[in-house]
Amino acid sequence: MLFKIILVFLLAMILIALVGRALFPGALPKVLRKKTSAPVCGKCGRYLIGRKTCDCGGKAK
Ligand SMILES: [Zn+2]
Repeated sequence: MLFKIILVFLLAMILIALVGRALFPGALPKVLRKKTSAPVCGKCGRYLIGRKTCDCGGKAK
């Protein structure tokens, strides 16, 4: 029974993380963005090291 609760809790956390990423792309890296000068994608917020365009089709800011 306890194992089931833990499993459901973990699944809920993963779901929240996925939804959060979908709704607020690059919300977490934003904190790190101020410290580095590495270009990030204007669409998804991923770091674009050594390139100007992103896999998602976005461009560096
Ligand atoms: Zn991107």
